[in-house]
Amino acid sequence: MELTSSTLVDKLMPELSTLFDTIRDQSRDGAGVTRDAFGPRETQAADTLAAFARRKGLEAGSDSAGNLHVTAAGALDDPPRIMLGSHLDSVPVGGNYDGLAGVIAGLAVLCLLDRGMATKAGVRVVGFRGEESPWFSQAYLGSKLLLGEFAREDLDSLRRYDTGKTLAEHLRSIGGSLGSGKLRPTIDLSKLKAYYELHIEQAPLLENLDLAVGIATAIRGNIRYPFASCRGHYAHSGAVPRRFRHDALVASAKLIAFADQHWQELIDCGNDDLVFTCGIFHTDGAEHAMTKVPGLVNFTLNIGGTRNAVMQALHDAIAARASELAREHDVVFELGRRVGTPAIDLDESLIGGLERACGQVGLNSVRMPTVGHDAAMFQRRGIPAAVVLVRNANGSHNPAEHMEMSDFAAGTKVLAAHILGRCQEEP
Ligand SMILES: [Zn+2]
Repeated sequence: MELTSSTLVDKLMPELSTLFDTIRDQSRDGAGVTRDAFGPRETQAADTLAAFARRKGLEAGSDSAGNLHVTAAGALDDPPRIMLGSHLDSVPVGGNYDGLAGVIAGLAVLCLLDRGMATKAGVRVVGFRGEESPWFSQAYLGSKLLLGEFAREDLDSLRRYDTGKTLAEHLRSIGGSLGSGKLRPTIDLSKLKAYYELHIEQAPLLENLDLAVGIATAIRGNIRYPFASCRGHYAHSGAVPRRFRHDALVASAKLIAFADQHWQELIDCGNDDLVFTCGIFHTDGAEHAMTKVPGLVNFTLNIGGTRNAVMQALHDAIAARASELAREHDVVFELGRRVGTPAIDLDESLIGGLERACGQVGLNSVRMPTVGHDAAMFQRRGIPAAVVLVRNANGSHNPAEHMEMSDFAAGTKVLAAHILGRCQEEP
């Protein structure tokens, strides 16, 4: 059985590789790949995947949020029992595999199940819209909409950073239509028993361990401040002595240095999956000058980890230090709106099942936490979820992201062996 599903994956690989290349060509932006959330390039990727699915005798359509749905022929209206998928969009100037690999892996699994079995087991592949947070300053939009876990007012308040248009306007432009009143799930989820996602690893762990595949144990949550600022007073750099300054930059730089130091202390206490990043940090280009004491710094804070209490501890320490520094430098820190998602453990029985599948297809694997994926939304909703991680050189969210097709095949074989086994057990 395992040999059969692995052989079938191998047979499909040339076509899957071409599918990756086609979508890469459609998504090129000069430097890398951009598939804009709820925009034309994301739609083009969905259309290309749907056309591939139809050529394979599958049925493809979309839900009211514009997410791509693929099932065995004639099964699109059936409630799903087993769902596989990932997201269609990329970050701006990203790579081709983040998200896309999971949708294509799902399609591969669906291709190799026979129609009767896929229909009976209720297998469905979904390509989610808008998972990446840079577009609308919020992640997982497509899966939240599918699950009905989205506040209607946010449709009009979230704006895409580049177009300035609201999510509602973008949804309309892609043919989405969410009616009126409280948002409900876009499909019947009453029978859904599991969600599986294959995703490239976004760190160098598998590369370092020389393993093609890992099984995720938990999804890191995050605490984020996308619009933090420190306000001081602009002043003459040559004339104003230190004691009279309200230097926003020195205060902000000390805050970030403190955050890094406290992060290390927490790691030293055994919290080695905690991460901290200040990804944006700048003075105001309209007003700054070499000869001015900086009066404004805009920055971001981004804390991630698998333990919510540890993330909160780092957060609280940063907030307390900001208060001290505000007094010390006579500046005002405004962290702005807090966003983020809690960390969540993935489903232990699905993890075990995928590990057994690794053994069946002759692969060593490792357990490791991962970063935010659509899977987190399902697990949080109480729908068991699991993530198969595939080795990827050069990190992700950049054009150099790289996945070997042989590693993709390995991850897909694990998923295929496991799903085939589950389908055969379905009553
Ligand atoms: Zn992703």
